[in-house]
Amino acid sequence: MPGKWLGIVGGGQLGRMFCFAAQAMGYRVAVLDPESTCPAGGVVDRHLCAEYNNREALSDMAGLCAAVSTEFENVPAASLDWLARSTCVSPSAQCVAIAQDRIAEKRCIEQAGVPVAPYIVIESSDVLQTLCDKALLAVLPSILKTARLGYDGRGQRNVCNPDEVRAAYIALGSVACILEQRLPLAYEISVIIARSADGTAVMFPVAQNIHRTGILSQTISPTPVGDAALIKRVQAAALSIAIKLDHVGVLCVEFFVLQDGSLVANEIAPRPHNSGHYTINACVSNQFEQQVRAMTGMPLGCTRQHSPAVMLNLLGDVWFSDKILRVPPWHKVAEIPGAHLHLYAKAEVRIGRKMGHLTLTAPTLCEAQTAARTCMHLLHIPSE
Ligand code: ATP
Ligand code: MG
Repeated sequence: MPGKWLGIVGGGQLGRMFCFAAQAMGYRVAVLDPESTCPAGGVVDRHLCAEYNNREALSDMAGLCAAVSTEFENVPAASLDWLARSTCVSPSAQCVAIAQDRIAEKRCIEQAGVPVAPYIVIESSDVLQTLCDKALLAVLPSILKTARLGYDGRGQRNVCNPDEVRAAYIALGSVACILEQRLPLAYEISVIIARSADGTAVMFPVAQNIHRTGILSQTISPTPVGDAALIKRVQAAALSIAIKLDHVGVLCVEFFVLQDGSLVANEIAPRPHNSGHYTINACVSNQFEQQVRAMTGMPLGCTRQHSPAVMLNLLGDVWFSDKILRVPPWHKVAEIPGAHLHLYAKAEVRIGRKMGHLTLTAPTLCEAQTAARTCMHLLHIPSE
């Protein structure tokens, strides 16, 4: 119940926004993050500044917190297992272990009856040597993706022929990878689902995502592309994946819609997701509040979207003009009706780094998109 402590493993922007939601509901929050200047550090009630596998810090967190969650899937599953011995942990270590390994993730999605892009598992150099050109050609052209620790398009290489596969495999460090067929995408969409321990689930509207250089650039919600039948398929697929994982908390499922109309799941994130940030300003209860509700056993909140919205990611690039670091023209952005600025208080601006996001809400999606275009122009965010 509110008044108690909640724990969050990871103090990045997701941990920071989790704190805002939990504190608004009257909880106190402890974050575990090794970085002294992490985005959540400035807002959290207690910062346990230690590595994710530090036993002393984990034991402090378990002693203090009535329930613990995570802001990202790359925390050691063993740490979550350890915490789960003495406090409530959601998502489970098992669920996180699946999401942090693309091979396990793909298999789990397939077991849930949802199609994924054709792929070949390359677990080692030995496995790659045994694969003949013909076997590789079956999924070429493709993207070689490391099984672990990839995000924002990192740990990926485009490959068009068997020689490029072999060279890219070495360039990625000869670690376990999947070779995934490059599909002819019509567009990309995602859905955020929140599920409680008793199996109740609610979903936010399906949103369209636009990526630039492998990084999410904008989310448009509700999706202007895809008909009612497609949305039903997306919702059914997301629900069966959440059930298959026995997930408790917020889960994002990213999908590709192909040029022939078929639906393919890309990947899952067992936590609030960048493509769900629009829910903060556009929905009755947002994805972070849902995470708090799910992990504390409270009833899930209402996911109704009250305003159409466009979310723009603010990468470090926005802070540079002609390679010179400057303060972006926030006052001009703030003049736009329905502009909601979220900055993550990151210590250092870097090109390609997620520094914040901007959500434009409006009475109609068309107006929100017009406002988004104005902001992109003001902030020199490329549209393609
Ligand atoms: P993030 O953590 O930001 O979600 P990631 O590093 O996990 O990204 P993916 O989601 O696998 O990477 O891929 C990033 C983007 O690259 C996708 O959103 C899509 O635009 C493109 N992409 C990935 N896989 C394929 C594919 N098989 N066919 C076509 N495009 C793809
Ligand atoms: Mg992705």
